[in-house]
Amino acid sequence: MHPFTLDRPRDLAAALALRAQAGRNDAPAEYIAGGTDMVQLLQEYVRQPERLVSLAGLLDNRIEIGPQGLRLGVAATMAEVAADPAVVEQFPLISEALLNSASPQVRNQATMGGNLLQRTRCPYFRDVGYAACNKRAPGSGCAAIGGENRWHAVLGTSDDCIATNPSDLAVALVALDAAVEIRGAGGSRSLPLVDFHRLPAATPHIETVLEPGEVIAAITVPASSAARRSHYLKVRDRASFEFAVVSAAVALEMDGARIRQARIALGGVGTKPWRVPRVEAALAGASLEPQSLRQAAALAAENAHGRGHNDFKIELMQRAIVRAVEIAGARA
Ligand SMILES: Cc1cc2nc3c(=O)[nH]c(=O)nc-3n(C[C@H](O)[C@H](O)[C@H](O)COP(=O)(O)OP(=O)(O)OC[C@H]3O[C@@H](n4cnc5c(N)ncnc54)[C@H](O)[C@@H]3O)c2cc1C
Ligand code: SF4
Repeated sequence: MHPFTLDRPRDLAAALALRAQAGRNDAPAEYIAGGTDMVQLLQEYVRQPERLVSLAGLLDNRIEIGPQGLRLGVAATMAEVAADPAVVEQFPLISEALLNSASPQVRNQATMGGNLLQRTRCPYFRDVGYAACNKRAPGSGCAAIGGENRWHAVLGTSDDCIATNPSDLAVALVALDAAVEIRGAGGSRSLPLVDFHRLPAATPHIETVLEPGEVIAAITVPASSAARRSHYLKVRDRASFEFAVVSAAVALEMDGARIRQARIALGGVGTKPWRVPRVEAALAGASLEPQSLRQAAALAAENAHGRGHNDFKIELMQRAIVRAVEIAGARA
């Protein structure tokens, strides 16, 4: 394990100041929340900060539901949010995405904020034995392009990185038009979660729009009837305790037997949680008849680019969309 000093600031302002001094990504000082991802990366020498700034006790952990929608304090754990009765009833997509993530032990410890900021599961990123990884060592190349890339992205890739974003929660939240409240030494701001993660382009090591020192303080999800009629479909290599090969988060507003509005995001296929507006537009006014669902789902494959081992994901993600829409549509 890489050695580090643990700071436990008395308040958030002190934490923000400590972390801001250290600069941007993979800095000499980093935040730690539940530690379930950070500690793994320290153990493997993937991340080597000199100091860890603990967020324990500094951020809100309340789960609040009102007429405007849902507000999640980022210190709430995955287990707390997944089991919250109002979340289960009004935002089943969120609960399902969380319950399909990790293990009960991890969910008891891991926070909402840490979940959105967990690092990719690209095996080359997580094994320092591989020299070429632009995300871990900028400018070193990408071992996955031309290497084993079965788990990698087919959407939003660049010639510098094809790693997927691994968060199931983020996929569900993007489908539901969630926003993140960000707090830094200079104040607070809010932005749609869909704009929070960056495409890799030529700088895959810069993964989000967070400025140095900023934290995610809360997640907000607007109220909608679609959120109740929603489903998270996760396809993975084994039935539990596994990341998504492909996932589809679907929320539907129905008009009788027809879809009035669909909101769909994909996981396991994009370099960030991937919303599919063209598919959503094609589904507006459609019935749940398989042929029209398949036609709409095919639009998700526009601009998809496989690298060999992961070509199968292009077909699989279309099938996942069709199945998830069928399941959500059948919900009362
Ligand atoms: C065995 C295993 C299986 C897993 N399976 C899945 C899965 O199937 N699906 C899935 O989605 N996830 C899965 N995960 C990942 C898991 O969800 C994350 O490890 C967890 O959510 C991270 O939360 P944490 O609070 O422990 O974050 P930490 O490990 O403490 O931090 C993670 C990162 O977030 C930063 N950070 C934390 N909170 C904030 C904040 N509020 N503001 C700014 N930065 C912050 C930290 O600096 C760090 O970079 C798995 C993890 C393990 C260990
Ligand atoms: S896909 Fe991205 S994370 Fe994986 S080896 Fe290439 S640069 Fe590194």
